[in-house]
Amino acid sequence: MTAALTADVAIVGGGIIGLASAERLTAHGARVIVIDDTAAAGGATGVSGGLVRAFDPSGTHTAWAAESSIRYRSRGWHGSWPAVRRHGSLTLIDRRELAALTPHIEAVRDAGLEIDVLDAGDIERRHPQLTVPDHLLAVAEPQAGWLPAADVALALRRDAGAGLHLHHTRALGLKHSSSRVRGVHTSGGDVHADAVLLAAGTGSTDLAASVGVRLPLRTRAVSYCLFHSDDIAGLPTTVDRTTGAWLRRWENGHAVLAGVASARADVPARIRDGVGRAEEDRIRTVVAERFPHLAHAPAVGGVTAYDAMTATGGPGTVTSWPDPHGLVTAVGWNGGGFKLAPAIGRQAADHLMEALKR
Ligand SMILES: Cc1cc2nc3c(=O)[nH]c(=O)nc-3n(C[C@H](O)[C@H](O)[C@H](O)COP(=O)(O)OP(=O)(O)OC[C@H]3O[C@@H](n4cnc5c(N)ncnc54)[C@H](O)[C@@H]3O)c2cc1C
Repeated sequence: MTAALTADVAIVGGGIIGLASAERLTAHGARVIVIDDTAAAGGATGVSGGLVRAFDPSGTHTAWAAESSIRYRSRGWHGSWPAVRRHGSLTLIDRRELAALTPHIEAVRDAGLEIDVLDAGDIERRHPQLTVPDHLLAVAEPQAGWLPAADVALALRRDAGAGLHLHHTRALGLKHSSSRVRGVHTSGGDVHADAVLLAAGTGSTDLAASVGVRLPLRTRAVSYCLFHSDDIAGLPTTVDRTTGAWLRRWENGHAVLAGVASARADVPARIRDGVGRAEEDRIRTVVAERFPHLAHAPAVGGVTAYDAMTATGGPGTVTSWPDPHGLVTAVGWNGGGFKLAPAIGRQAADHLMEALKR
């Protein structure tokens, strides 16, 4: 028999979204229990590429991406997070997209962040490893780059201090009565709380259903390879919208982490080391179009993983549900949750603090 635990807010999911929210809640004085049945950052967060940039070509999350970039650059709320590896960020776009994307570029500039548009010649002069056809442009953010995502998650845990309790157990359903959430049933006993955040990726769907909330989510495949390369000095993080390729330097200075967006959905919600031969070949072929050196570079590692996306593939959301009162969800980040996490956590915490008042 396990004693019941009590907090102001119970959070299911100890990934970057749950922990960013927990840190903000404790900063507001709330007592928080984070429920996760893996080690902290044991889901998508622990294997995230960690690329951060403010430019959001979809325009949906421009404000959150800019807010988060600024927060990452100032190393969190207390200057304690790992520093952004400012290798610069290039988002490659088709020249014909420029007019439509200009408002999103301007929004980043208006937020006080450096952003510029380079043509193919500029890109190749600055980054001779890259080969870019003339019909492409790069949206360049010189101060962006990447961060070790699992270390940021640990820093958030530390920043939350004694107000955060981690409960290593599986959430089985939500407790509710009189149209209000009352906590979480877990395999390690009940957690009592006046507000609950679901930040459990696809695990959120069944938990939401236990109180009659429909939150359809699917998995999408996200994987990457590590390719040995000694030709990475000055290589920026690069995201190619035209091919789906993305890459960054690996921390040891002798490898490139590279992936290609995948359309494969409904894959198992599991993470494992290594990628299959077919996926390695796909990544190598597509990424080598822009970074030809990778065509013959040996693969020295990789990860096969997933992220949660909304059922339609639309943008992730932070939602405060009217019924049951006190339920907030933050889900559906579809391969891009890390760069938005500080803003998502701030937004979720604001909703939860509001819910606690009533
Ligand atoms: C390979 C890869 C590369 C990526 N690269 C980038 C990138 O470069 N930039 C970027 O911005 N984003 C990137 N992403 C996306 C980003 O990492 C994710 O969007 C983000 O980490 C999602 O965080 P989360 O907290 O929502 O989910 P998760 O980190 O998956 O956390 C959810 C947690 O919920 C727990 N859980 C689920 N169900 C239950 C339950 N019933 N009981 C208890 N616990 C439960 C899980 O154990 C898990 O720890 C990448 C993702 C992957 C997979």
